[in-house]
Amino acid sequence: MASIAENISTVRTQITNAARAAGRPETAVRLLAVSKTQTVASVQEAYDAGQREFGENYVQEALEKIAALNLPEIIWHFIGPIQSNKTAEIATHFDWVQGVDRIKIANRLSAQRPAERGPLQVCVQVNLSLEDSKSGVALEDAASLCEHIASLPGLCLRGLMAIPAPSTDPEQQRATFRPLARLFQELQGRYPQMDTLSIGMSADFEAAIAEGSTLVRIGTALFGARHPGPKPLGAK
Ligand SMILES: *Cc1c(COP(=O)(O)O)cnc(C)c1O
Repeated sequence: MASIAENISTVRTQITNAARAAGRPETAVRLLAVSKTQTVASVQEAYDAGQREFGENYVQEALEKIAALNLPEIIWHFIGPIQSNKTAEIATHFDWVQGVDRIKIANRLSAQRPAERGPLQVCVQVNLSLEDSKSGVALEDAASLCEHIASLPGLCLRGLMAIPAPSTDPEQQRATFRPLARLFQELQGRYPQMDTLSIGMSADFEAAIAEGSTLVRIGTALFGARHPGPKPLGAK
């Protein structure tokens, strides 16, 4: 079985190749290592291989890792669903939050961000699959949520993210991402600080890069299968 360092190297090469094939600069796409359910030792191994950005979905689990891995340049993204009773912990301990899809959550994160940490970097989550069960704002409502977030002092609006329904057909994957990429370009004209289109996971990152992704969120292709879990919320 390949080591985490080998997997990172392989995925980085695939990212570079996909960017080149799309006629984009090789440095246009950042890699976010999704470390949910993975151990502190695995995150450390990825860090030692040069990885700096990590994504976590579960607040309690993440806080333990953030405390244990107080390393130079490490950047933590919260990428899970956001419950309003967790916003204070998220605003205090994370650098980025990617799943913002409601004004109420945005207001709480802004108000609870400690001033000394500077603004929290935010991506608005858009629902591309039109499923009631998935979180995310509808595409046609994303611009007004962005406008609200851009006005909040504790937040910095950096981009859009989405988790579409899985598809194994690369053409279908690209077609799903396309309207989001178009909206992203349009919003970039309004908000110069907006530089992040967070689309693409292990199964569809090449299609996402072809459509303009600037940040791919990869878990299993780096760390292997996820450990069983998560722990129920509130569990010790
Ligand atoms: C788990 C997760 C990922 C990574 O998924 P893989 O298929 O393991 O690469 C990416 N984004 C979000 C929001 C996730 O929850």
